[in-house]
Amino acid sequence: MFLIIVATNDSILNSLIYQEAKRKRILINVIDDRSKCSFIFPSIVDRFPITVAVSSGGTAPVLTRMIKERIESILPMNLGNSALLAERWRSHVKLKFKKNTHRRYFWEKVFNGIFVSHVLNGNLKKAIKTLNTEIKQKKSFKGEIFLVGAGPGDSGLLTLRGLQVIQQADVILYDSLVSSDILSLVRKDAKKIYVGKKANKLCVSQKNINSMLINMARNGNKVVRLKGGDSFIFGRGGEELEIAKKFGINFQVVPGITAATGVSAYAGIPLTHRNYSSGIIFITGSNKEKEKNSQDWSFISKCKNYTLVIYMARLQSTYIFDKLKFNNYPLDMPMALIEKGTTSEQNTIIDTFKNLKKLSCLMKRPTLLILGKVVSLSKELSWFKKNSN
Ligand code: SAH
Repeated sequence: MFLIIVATNDSILNSLIYQEAKRKRILINVIDDRSKCSFIFPSIVDRFPITVAVSSGGTAPVLTRMIKERIESILPMNLGNSALLAERWRSHVKLKFKKNTHRRYFWEKVFNGIFVSHVLNGNLKKAIKTLNTEIKQKKSFKGEIFLVGAGPGDSGLLTLRGLQVIQQADVILYDSLVSSDILSLVRKDAKKIYVGKKANKLCVSQKNINSMLINMARNGNKVVRLKGGDSFIFGRGGEELEIAKKFGINFQVVPGITAATGVSAYAGIPLTHRNYSSGIIFITGSNKEKEKNSQDWSFISKCKNYTLVIYMARLQSTYIFDKLKFNNYPLDMPMALIEKGTTSEQNTIIDTFKNLKKLSCLMKRPTLLILGKVVSLSKELSWFKKNSN
């Protein structure tokens, strides 16, 4: 025997056969008795030659079935034909592209492109023509920079495009606000480089980050610059792209859900509401008067019918409080301080503006400050339960 399947209802006999098989090192599966199996039968999604096997090691067959059903629904029936066709081109592709990464780029482009649609529509002639054209095209394999917004924390808030891009990256330069859940979605073989802050100081200077981006892209890599929230909102995304432009490097931008929209949503605060707020102002709390574009506090304080979202406010709460108060911002304006929003550690304090200084000290990084009448709706609309995601 090479492999044995035992399906009797005699448990003593089953045990005997199991012991014997174990002694003779023969593969054995005693049906419905996990402890007497040296192998298991996974649930199979069959798109020949593509096979997806799902198993919970016998612990949760219903869950396994649900996962299998999901996968069944997203993999088109004749997807396997794409693989069968691709196989015929593998040796040509190997001859044409000597480097592993170049072959990977080629196939990524093919499988992301019209080729698969032709196969799925049963139009094999067109699919073959597409492959022929692709392989003949002169490839430049120039590196590129992808500026990707990872959203505020919950990995479910990464966009589909963001996911696609991080799964094709050669290198990822990421910041401290990028959650570990999102990092686990990055292509396994990609080089991951942390360039965030440590104890509020950049551990890699902006100048170094810029030169790393440029050098890696110049070496032909797909470089992903992954940032928390949206890269164009208090994320220095613009500055990094200006440098890329200066050095003639191609780039793409994948927007992310910024803290203001993501965190407010998870705190049950609609940023606009016909009865309370007719607009939103996003500002940073961290640039003081000495900087070129400091805030116009007198203007901001007048916007009482707007929602004011202040990023990086925690450490500047005294300064912000004094400026707004000096300009007669209402002390009883509803205020929310939300720490680690959208994550399982989200912590929300709802109070009024007059207690900003006192309450900021209780919060940790990152914290978002929201001021405005809409904040009062949180009591009614808050829905997100910690540790429930
Ligand atoms: N580009 C980011 C903002 C970077 S500035 C974005 O679009 O969201 C960093 C500030 O963003 C933090 O100081 C904090 O005010 C806010 N922030 C980011 N993620 C947050 C989160 N999960 N919870 C609360 N505030 C957050």
